Amino acid sequence: MALGEHSIETPPRAPSPVHRFGTLAVHAGSPHDPVTGAVIEPISLSTTFAQSSVGKPVGLYEYTRSSNPNRDNFEAAIAALEHARYALAFSSGSATTATILQSLAAGSHVVSISDVYGGTHRYFTKVAAAHGVHVTFSPSIEIEISELIRPDETKLIWIETPSNPTLSLVDIRAVASVAHQHGIMVVVDNTFLSPYVQNPLDHGADIVVHSVTKYINGHSDVLMGAAAFNSPTLYDRLSFLQNAIGAVPSAFDCWLAHRGLKTLHLRAREASANAAVVAQTLKASAHVIAVNYPGLASHPQHAVTLKQHRNGMGGGMLSFRIRGGQGAAERFCQATKIFTLAESLGGVESLVEVPGSMTHAGIPREQREAAGVFDDLVRVSCGIEDGEDLRKDVLQALEKAVVGPKISNGVNGSV
Ligand SMILES: *Cc1c(COP(=O)(O)O)cnc(C)c1O
Repeated sequence: MALGEHSIETPPRAPSPVHRFGTLAVHAGSPHDPVTGAVIEPISLSTTFAQSSVGKPVGLYEYTRSSNPNRDNFEAAIAALEHARYALAFSSGSATTATILQSLAAGSHVVSISDVYGGTHRYFTKVAAAHGVHVTFSPSIEIEISELIRPDETKLIWIETPSNPTLSLVDIRAVASVAHQHGIMVVVDNTFLSPYVQNPLDHGADIVVHSVTKYINGHSDVLMGAAAFNSPTLYDRLSFLQNAIGAVPSAFDCWLAHRGLKTLHLRAREASANAAVVAQTLKASAHVIAVNYPGLASHPQHAVTLKQHRNGMGGGMLSFRIRGGQGAAERFCQATKIFTLAESLGGVESLVEVPGSMTHAGIPREQREAAGVFDDLVRVSCGIEDGEDLRKDVLQALEKAVVGPKISNGVNGSV
């Protein structure tokens, strides 16, 4: 049975947790070892598990692709943090997306926001079509959704909020209420905010997905993905595919990502506070054309921030347009001393990149600019360093990027 054929049966919600986020992050899926009392779970590297008689495993496990203790514990922690009954882990965020798309029957139609993550766009346009799943992209999904839904064909709506790299927001509840009238499921990619800042299932989403590679692991040393949801039907279908396709993370990666997850609340709070400082610093600079940050009151969808994000937090990601074009954007990224010029996001260390020439270079310029991705756009991932040091680093890099070349040209007499 393909996903979507059952429409959506409004599954029972996960029970309201007794404990708050920080307590869940540290304790959910973290039982003490019943034999040794070890407070931290051992890494269970065995690929196979003994059986006492044919078909009777000694414990819960048979073969590691199907399940293993470290993945089970990590999945339990993700489910708790996303207010979900179930969670499944995959070998990357991209494998999570692929597995969800694979669950659709041939001939299914999907509606997606336009500025999805580049790898998601690539899968939708170059891979899903090969098994007969077609995707329509919409730049303003809240307005267009009713028109874009094809009766009986549309099975899934795909949202990323905030979007990458322009940080525009989608009102999840507004989209979900239209989708649900037609029996269509809503997926939200929550990578940019992490479960600490936003819990999409609480706003009507049916599946929340993460590139665990980013905030959840948080230390830029694991590639992994996860999906969380409440429906037992979805659990049966997606756990079947998790095992059948086999795009699963190693026990070691599950253990590392679980360790990272235990400090998610501390890291997300600090990254968000730092991003707020950096956004205000940029906004006040004469060298900056515009700042995209959901935490600023001037963000066009700030009302959605207040409605969907914990305490109106803006998250750790922002982008801005620098004066002086692509050259200035590139010089800025080379002039920062604390922010490293690199792709990716959500780690303890701050990163900067130029989407037009790096993460989004594959998208034709016209399409890119229509989505707000100009050549002078710089994307910033704030880490958890000291906010005052980040502020000073941004200010000195702006001076070097915008003013610097003129002065040095003058001094050197060269052009
Ligand atoms: C990185 C990312 C992905 C893909 O995840 P991988 O773990 O790199 O495969 C998907 N969505 C968003 C928003 C991302 O940032």
